Amino acid sequence: PTREQITYFGAGPALLPSTVLETAAEALVNYNNTGLGLAEHSHRSELATNILNETKTDLAKYLDVPDDYEILFMQGGGSGEFSATVYNLVNVWVARRKQKILKELNIPEGKEIPEDVLLKELQKAVDEELKVDYLVTGSWSLKASQEAARLIGPEHVNIVADARKVNDGKFGKIPEESTWKLSKNPAMVYYCDNETVDGVEISGFPEVLKPTGGEDDPIVVADMSSNILSRRIPVKNFSLIFFGAQKNLGSTGITVVIIKKSLLPPAVATLAPTLLRKLGLPIGPIVFSYETIAKNNSLYNTLSIFDVYIAGQVLKKLLQTFPDKVDGQQKLADQKAKLIYAALDKYPESYKIVPDKNARSRMNICFRVTHLASGIDESERTFLKGATDQGLTGLKGHRSVGGIRASNYNSISLEGAEKLAKYIEEYAQGPK
Ligand code: PLP
Repeated sequence: PTREQITYFGAGPALLPSTVLETAAEALVNYNNTGLGLAEHSHRSELATNILNETKTDLAKYLDVPDDYEILFMQGGGSGEFSATVYNLVNVWVARRKQKILKELNIPEGKEIPEDVLLKELQKAVDEELKVDYLVTGSWSLKASQEAARLIGPEHVNIVADARKVNDGKFGKIPEESTWKLSKNPAMVYYCDNETVDGVEISGFPEVLKPTGGEDDPIVVADMSSNILSRRIPVKNFSLIFFGAQKNLGSTGITVVIIKKSLLPPAVATLAPTLLRKLGLPIGPIVFSYETIAKNNSLYNTLSIFDVYIAGQVLKKLLQTFPDKVDGQQKLADQKAKLIYAALDKYPESYKIVPDKNARSRMNICFRVTHLASGIDESERTFLKGATDQGLTGLKGHRSVGGIRASNYNSISLEGAEKLAKYIEEYAQGPK
């Protein structure tokens, strides 16, 4: 079939707009009449820097990222960030603690104290107080918390709440905020805004994490890999947001980090590796150091400028399509999700939506098909077969949970969502 005949609901990588791919295909062969393809140009060339800076500017414009945030292009995917967030924010926590210790000991700024004195104090703080907090609402936040435990030890990882405990061992609910057990002054509070596998989305910024402007405001980190660019986010409430490009932004290969400048030097004097080593804390690879990537405008090492270019083209298209920027995309995303959920809700005997109503993701719509008397497996097989026959593809759920998953990313048009909603209704009206 042709691209036009297919509506692809796969969970990622997602489809890119055909016009972007066509422009990118030309750029891949001969960029701007330079005789070289874009993937062949040096990442240190002026044209590469221009593409990078323009993409940063457009992303900041589209999402209204305030000036006191830095945008980084990294590699290693969302999974790389599971590790990078720990390496970097644990370092920031210890660095701040060092400042506090110096202050308590009345050491003037710029003056050092004997290393053994400092180490003793820091070691005590690390052993007794260092925590990273994870809200576990699905497979990806679970994985992130497991990576943290692998890197710094489970004794330093605090699970704020585990959604499976309030839902018969399965993901599908967001635990009530009043039950969250937050640590005192953790190195970060981490959550996944949209759980791609489990179809669970946090609908707004958690009340309990809202900053008040004081020194004790929590350092909030969010994985937005699968819902970025689909709704307005209060960036200023976060210390760090990260997302792989391959769902709503562009092609696989770059990962974006939006980080508050107050977590980077010169605001924080991060700790040297020798000191971290003495404290028994992990030292991250230099390519995962936010400080290093920021200092080098994301060009510490070879970056795929071609992938940055694709992201840039997607953003230009979004800015043209939606004069009210991400608010415009949000309205459309909400409308499409509503259509699909409404079709499913209309036939409760034929479909069971996996998550709770107030945890439903607008991006990954997960449900079971219970239509046929012969059982779920047969129902889902026939549902998928009928869908594929109509060009509705990529609907099979994640291998770890089964079922059906319709990924309603930005690349799905309103017509595409309508086509799926219509098929859902038709199938339910068919023979049992
Ligand atoms: N976080 C979320 C929410 C995801 O959906 C995924 C991948 O699908 C990841 C993290 C992992 O991303 P990557 O495959 O880029 O490491």
